[in-house]
Amino acid sequence: MKCPRCKNEVLKKARIHDLEVDYCSKCHGIWLDKDELDQICGNTNED
Ligand SMILES: [Zn+2]
Repeated sequence: MKCPRCKNEVLKKARIHDLEVDYCSKCHGIWLDKDELDQICGNTNED
């Protein structure tokens, strides 16, 4: 997967809150799938 912003920069995998996300080292953008975003937002409601 390539960065939508930088076009030709390949995203790297990074782990945030036990989720694997795509990270761009060029623009420092983090790209999430919708499910991943829901998990991060939903985590605070658990427990
Ligand atoms: Zn980028």
